[in-house]
Order: sequence, then structure tokens, then C-alpha cells
Amino acid sequence: MIDTHAHLGKVVFGKNPLTPEELIEFMDKYGIEKSVILPLVNPEEEHFYYTTEQALEDSKKYPDRFIPFVNIDPRRGTNDGNLDFYPLIKECVDKGCKGFGEILANLPTNDRRLKSIYKACGKLEIPVLPDLRYSQSTVGVIELLGLPYLEEVLKEFPQTIFIGHGPSFWAEVSADVPGIQEPYPKGKIEKPGRVGYLLERYPNLYADLSAMSGYNALARDLDYAKTFLEKHHKKLLFGTDRFVNREEPKIIDLLNNIGLPSSIKGYIFRKNAERILKL
Ligand SMILES: [Zn+2]
Repeated sequence: MIDTHAHLGKVVFGKNPLTPEELIEFMDKYGIEKSVILPLVNPEEEHFYYTTEQALEDSKKYPDRFIPFVNIDPRRGTNDGNLDFYPLIKECVDKGCKGFGEILANLPTNDRRLKSIYKACGKLEIPVLPDLRYSQSTVGVIELLGLPYLEEVLKEFPQTIFIGHGPSFWAEVSADVPGIQEPYPKGKIEKPGRVGYLLERYPNLYADLSAMSGYNALARDLDYAKTFLEKHHKKLLFGTDRFVNREEPKIIDLLNNIGLPSSIKGYIFRKNAERILKL
């Protein structure tokens, strides 16, 4: 298994930093061979940063277990959308980073500073991972109901692979979306939402099943979840996003017990990550 969404370090005040060795213990316990290590560098969400340099350093110690991503705050430099992020990101890609994120900057998905990053990532052929929230949220990348900003950038940057993640992305698995008052909506899915439509329509959209948001999108309606997983299995990535909080990744049991053929599980647990991260 490849976990496409993990963090390390001291990111939340009052919690012990998660060490590489501790993460490897979790990985061994659940049969995870490799984990993507996502730096956190936007000031809104976390109390402490975990930088690209730290991700590279920790990954160098365990090159068979960790896959580092690069992360740069979009407001760095000129803060006007004119900064060319390509050389900055390329330097990190040359050192071994395989993707960009997790983006938690509280800017619209279609902000021009973020667009400069998407453009550079497209040229470098690495995926980007934004955490999408609705507009009233003060952390995370800002979306509106129906994910129109995401659709705009999917169209504008066809060379860039976007990995959908976060509460507002996964709430849109259903057409009935309560909005910010319920980030993890429950209940049966009567009508498929925008996520399925966008996954089908845009070859450059993938999605990670990590965190409370990814798990909830499936657990709320297991019958629908099975159909959804079967239909989109070439675009979905297994991820946890749980270990930095020392929580159990319930997504593993869900994926194993929902009745998917092993070929489909192979794509979700491993093959899709190998393909888009070029492992
Ligand atoms: Zn995360």
C-alpha cells in the first residue's frame, strides 16, 4: 500500500511531534510500504511549520519508506501572481520531491498566485494537492458550492494533475450539499454530486480518500460508495492523514470490507499513486 497523505513533525500545539520512526511503526502496523510526506507551510492551519527541507531530510533517512512533496506558500516573493514558481519548485523536484502540497492557504482555488503554482507543477509533471473548504472557512483553499473554481483550473491547466481532498471536495460526492455548517454530511446519497462528474470529465483530476472527509464520503452510504469506487477506481488514491494525530485509519477496513475485487483495490491502494507520482 502507498499512503498518499501523511504528515510528520510538530504541527499542532500541545501535541508531541510525530517522528519518522513513529510513523514507520504505524505504517508497519497497517501494512503500508510507502507514505507521501506533505510539508505544511501555510500559516492559517498549523501552529508550526513542517518544511520541504524537513521532508527531504526525513525522507533521505528512509528512502524506501517516504516520498517527499514540496510546499511553498503562494504569497511568497512578490505576492501578486507574477512570481515564476518554476525554478523554486524545480529545485525541490531535482532533490526528490514528487508532488506539491498540501495547500492550506486561505485563497480561492482559482487565485492567480495559486495558478502560478499550478502552471509550474504542470510543466514539471508533478501533481498538486489542495485542501478544499467552503468560502466561509478561514483555513484551506476556498471553494464555492459546486466546486466552480476547481473546474476552472482543471480546464485552464490540463497538464497539471489535481488531487482533490478536504471537506468541501468530499461533501460534493452528493448533489445535496449542506455547506459549511456541516463539513462532514451524513446520510444516503440520492443523487451523485459534482465529484463524480468532475472525475469523469477531467483526466487531470484525481482524489485522495484520506482524512475524516474522504472516509465520511464513503462511510455515509456504503452502497453508493461501492459503485463510486468501482466506477472511479483509476482516479482514486488511498491516503490516511490520521497518524500525525495518532488516530486509526478507518479507511483501510472500509476499503477492504466493502466487497471490491482485488484488481480494483490494487489501483486504489497502489497503482494510481505509482502512476501519477512516477515511482
Ligand atoms: Zn493533511
